[in-house]
Amino acid sequence: MSRVLVTGGAGFIGSHLCEKLLAQGDDVICLDNFFTGRRANIVHLLDNNRFEVVRHDIIEPILLEVDRIYHMACPASPVHYQYNPVKTLKTSVMGTINMLGLAKRVRARILLASTSEVYGDPKEHPQKESYWGNVNPLGIRSCYDEGKRVAETLMMDYHRQNAVDVRIIRIFNTYGPRMLFDDGRVVSNFIVQALKGEDITLYGDGSQTRSFCFVDDLVAGIMAMMEQTETTGPVNLGNPLEITVHELGSRVLEMTSSSSKFSFKPLPQDDPTRRKPDITLAERFLGWTPKVPLDEGLKRTVADFKKRLDEAAA
Ligand code: NAD
Ligand code: UDP
Repeated sequence: MSRVLVTGGAGFIGSHLCEKLLAQGDDVICLDNFFTGRRANIVHLLDNNRFEVVRHDIIEPILLEVDRIYHMACPASPVHYQYNPVKTLKTSVMGTINMLGLAKRVRARILLASTSEVYGDPKEHPQKESYWGNVNPLGIRSCYDEGKRVAETLMMDYHRQNAVDVRIIRIFNTYGPRMLFDDGRVVSNFIVQALKGEDITLYGDGSQTRSFCFVDDLVAGIMAMMEQTETTGPVNLGNPLEITVHELGSRVLEMTSSSSKFSFKPLPQDDPTRRKPDITLAERFLGWTPKVPLDEGLKRTVADFKKRLDEAAA
């Protein structure tokens, strides 16, 4: 049993993580500023006396007595992280410094939720952890990509300089129940559009690829990474099944029996053309591979969105 801090614990991935940590008997503090997090994501956990919620912005320091820090706080959807790019950078840079300072002071192990975006528009495919990436430092995605790259650097420097016990994971596109309706990411956009009978917004010609991991698989990988002692990482966590965005749209349409049509929109600046994780290290160090097939995960996600949309309409 551990005393665990989850920054960004009221967000999409963070809330699933809090749930699993409580289920294994940990004491969990969920820290969140509720920018993209929602009370609804954690309301079912509030009755548990091992669960606490702290409303706090990680760009300010905080002192908490914990053994483990899952550092998940940062808006992840391009729509949200571009809403206030300077704040996104402060969250990744000052927020990570504050969490590392806390880890150092209370001697907690800290895991950073980094991202496949550190690879930018990758010239190596699939992406291995050894690849340094192809990132535009000046574009509209840079606040997120470069913020996470600095966060990784901070983790390694605190590790080398102050012996902080660190873990870094690079998360690839993840989807599942509890994504926001207006999240702006492709899976949630397509499902909401299909269920409402609205046009499916395909950016560019839809030939760009992504590899989508179901959130339950991802959370199992995150927890395994925290508890293993062989590597600091970075370790990629994602599902290596790669599909085009167009194909994803077709699957969502079929699954929802929707009459929505594709509507083509301009491709956003610096949108990566291909992305697929090499998960050899996750297999070797964590014994981890994703288990939930895309159609199964989409079915569970569609059911959750349908329920919430029905509730919102009632
Ligand atoms: P999310 O936006 O649902 O969750 C982020 C959470 O962090 C929210 O609850 C938000 O309110 C909170 N937060 C943001 N800024 C904060 C601040 N300054 N102080 C305190 N709390 C703050 O996103 P998510 O999809 O759950 O992503 C969680 C983490 O995983 C993020 O660090 C993200 O970069 C990383 N990640 C996610 C994906 C993905 O596909 N979902 C992919 C790669 C990396
Ligand atoms: N995308 C799309 N329609 C949408 C939202 C996204 O075609 O309504 C595309 C987007 O251009 C990108 C892919 O889907 O190529 C994944 O986008 P998302 O924002 O989910 O994640 P990221 O670009 O960060 O991988």
